[in-house]
Amino acid sequence: MDQGIEVVSMSVQDPPITQEEQSQWPRVYFFDTTLRDGEQSPGCTMHSAEKLRMAHQIAALGVDILEAGFAIASDGDADSIRTIAREVRGPIIASLARAKREDIEAAARSIEPAPRARIHTFLSTSDLHLAAKLQITREQALDQIAEMVALARTYAEDIEFSPEDATRTDPDFLVKVCEVAIQAGATTLNLPDTVGYCIPQDYGDMFRMVRKRVAGIDKVVLSAHCHDDLGLAVANSIAAIEAGVRQVECAVNGIGERAGNAALEEIAAILITRKDKLPYRHNIVMSQIYATSQMLAGCISFGAAPNKAIIGANAFAHAAGIHQHGVMVNPLTYEIMTPESVGVPKSSLVLGKHSGRRALEHRLGELGYPLTREQLNDVYARFTELADRKKTIYDQDLLSLLKPQPKVSALA
Ligand code: MN
Repeated sequence: MDQGIEVVSMSVQDPPITQEEQSQWPRVYFFDTTLRDGEQSPGCTMHSAEKLRMAHQIAALGVDILEAGFAIASDGDADSIRTIAREVRGPIIASLARAKREDIEAAARSIEPAPRARIHTFLSTSDLHLAAKLQITREQALDQIAEMVALARTYAEDIEFSPEDATRTDPDFLVKVCEVAIQAGATTLNLPDTVGYCIPQDYGDMFRMVRKRVAGIDKVVLSAHCHDDLGLAVANSIAAIEAGVRQVECAVNGIGERAGNAALEEIAAILITRKDKLPYRHNIVMSQIYATSQMLAGCISFGAAPNKAIIGANAFAHAAGIHQHGVMVNPLTYEIMTPESVGVPKSSLVLGKHSGRRALEHRLGELGYPLTREQLNDVYARFTELADRKKTIYDQDLLSLLKPQPKVSALA
């Protein structure tokens, strides 16, 4: 793990964490749903060829489980899952299925070519969903879960069950649901915050509760699936890990239904950057993050916001003079991780009217124009003048500042 990572210690007093110590840490599995929950959100539809290209890149990123689609949704989806299952190696390939026979059979057919495959089946368990959406009783839900998880088990060894809307499900009933799913053969139990309602304390408490009360809970991997409706998907995922969850479901660039899923790159970066407080191993190849993010943005109809953590255009950009000087002297003054560690070519200093002389000198030096003090003073004066008129100064603008300036009389 940690290819290409500079381990950043926040305090110079901290003893470095040895590889030996880290190898003892519990492993967190990354379940990527970019091609399922992500792809089913507005503006994120991908063609089969784009999905295959993304699946190869997501595999290169080192995810443990790749949810390739929802087989029953369309023939195109089923074909695309099947192609990924045949061609992409590394991750376990998963297909989603409602807890219905035809869904489970379609999922089973779609993942058949994969050497390691998972059927992920789900049923709503909150009273609201049972009454309004499914129109079944709690007893009927338990029977359906038992029957369909057992059916899925006849097609695959690796079965994930999700009680949809788990976070709004009555806790006593949720315990029963978990027990029934485990008895029927589920190997991963995912408790999603389907509507993005939880705050981190709630979500962690729910997992602590099931770990305490559910018979056989140690036989399954517990999983988190968070949505960002309140901007807490990543925080909730971290709270879940701290409460004993060992699989996190997430998507590249945080795409997904409504406000999106937990952003894969943020969870991975948190676990690397704050390993002092979060002693967990994972297999994400950090240096592939930027490339994966860029490829996804090229496939769907929008990129990440410029101020998006980790992969936004401004994530490593420093505009204020004091910050720019600090980062040039030592990147750790204002950066808690290096852009190179997530595959961004290098930290970009955005030059504008708040920039100092040193940033200008540095950039021009990078562009191949080392300046004397006198030249720098001269160019800097013209730079601030330009920066007053223009919000962002590009390299081309800087180079034009170096050209001999026309005299006022020559313009007349
Ligand atoms: Mn979801």
